Amino acid sequence: MSHTPVIDSITFARAGNHCQGTVQGERLTRLDDSLVDRAGEVQYEVRGILWDEKPALELKIEGWLMVRCLRCLGPMRWPVRIENRVRLARNDADLDMADEEGVDAIPASQELNVAELVEDELLLQWPIAPRHDVHGDVEGVTLCDTTLAAGSTKAVHPFAALEKLSPRRGGTEQGNQD
Ligand SMILES: [Zn+2]
Repeated sequence: MSHTPVIDSITFARAGNHCQGTVQGERLTRLDDSLVDRAGEVQYEVRGILWDEKPALELKIEGWLMVRCLRCLGPMRWPVRIENRVRLARNDADLDMADEEGVDAIPASQELNVAELVEDELLLQWPIAPRHDVHGDVEGVTLCDTTLAAGSTKAVHPFAALEKLSPRRGGTEQGNQD
């Protein structure tokens, strides 16, 4: 699926609408610096809700993307599992209020591109230090390939991409889903 919807965000939220689909890795152009390659894809689910009587979107993103392991610098599959809520801010005052409350917020838009919303969320939730699983107990994550470590010198800079690219204001903590 290459088409992703554009939604009127506040109307979508108030109506309790729902949409879902897939975003291929090759469409995530703003993640280029952080991805080893464009393999992978994520499934998204966006649900309009009223959160404390304010319009918001509930996001669920699952899938996998290829990132670079900071231990061996080899490629690894990052299993993406994100659930978050973002309030829709109509103006700067709304954004400031969300900021004070420690709530994620995005500017409301009548033409909110869902693929871009998904990409923003991925940027915000990007793993700070992706590493292969040492113990082999995380599903979908493999162990370091030590043969790759010798040959590769390329390092990732997840923060650079995040700071440069994210338009989001407000908290980026993960503990405020509820
Ligand atoms: Zn590794």
